[in-house]
Amino acid sequence: MYKIAIYGKGGIGKSTTTSNLAAAFAGMGYRVMQVGCDPKADSTMNLVGRRIPTVLEQIREKGTGVALEDVVFRGFGGVLCVESGGPTPGVGCAGLGIISAFKKLEELHAFDIYQPDLVLYDVLGDVVCGGFAMPIRGGYADHVIIVTSGEAMALFAARNIALAVEGFGKRGYANYAGIIQNCRNVKDEDALVARLAEDTGGEIIAKISRSGAVQMAEDLSQTVIQAFPESEIAGEYRRLAGAVLGCCAAGLRGEVAPMPLHFGKGGLAHAIPGTV
Ligand code: ADP
Ligand code: MG
Repeated sequence: MYKIAIYGKGGIGKSTTTSNLAAAFAGMGYRVMQVGCDPKADSTMNLVGRRIPTVLEQIREKGTGVALEDVVFRGFGGVLCVESGGPTPGVGCAGLGIISAFKKLEELHAFDIYQPDLVLYDVLGDVVCGGFAMPIRGGYADHVIIVTSGEAMALFAARNIALAVEGFGKRGYANYAGIIQNCRNVKDEDALVARLAEDTGGEIIAKISRSGAVQMAEDLSQTVIQAFPESEIAGEYRRLAGAVLGCCAAGLRGEVAPMPLHFGKGGLAHAIPGTV
């Protein structure tokens, strides 16, 4: 089992990328679980075709009587889908959903029962605090991948996430694999994302084009892998899946050799505006 946390700013395309990646992995014959870790709870919608009840909702409704089938739902290609959910707006900590979901999945022995080859955590990375940092510590994820475009706020969030991974990395937690560039076609996008990659010491794993097919598939509550498998963009997601496997190959074979952090020129502090 290999676990990858996919982080990025809200709205940047994490869920779109993660669910297409999950669908592509499923097409390659892997057993995949996708865990949505965003209070929006829409990570797996295009895999299942609808919103699924979240772990927090089920805990609120059923208390200690929550069963595995109340929180794990099968989507396209057999992908096992979970949504952590979030608190009632205005009450409680947003990260609590993730902490509760992780605890509940453990308590129900979800990984032992389903035995996924790959677990993808789709995590909101605007604030890497408390629950949102959970997937990168405590041995939850083996690798962290950041989704960004060339937009300033997406790059800012990406740098903060890389900083958090670096901080936890020193204690032997998840390793930073690199960046997925989800294009927004902003000015100098390639150069801006390349600079981020250099500053943070991660490679650009793949570049995903902005494509109208994504919205067309979304209107059908599907991934492009399902709705338009022959499209250019579906090909890009399949190549992304291959590239991600390349990054994580040693881990998948059970050899513990995730890439060490290797921050570029001047280290990461250099890359965060205002810290040097
Ligand atoms: P996040 O999970 O990061 O909040 P989403 O995956 O929900 O973001 O994406 C936000 C919006 O951007 C969605 O409407 C989605 O259709 C669109 N989107 C994401 N990636 C692409 C892409 N490569 N091409 C076109 N639209 C995209
Ligand atoms: Mg999302």
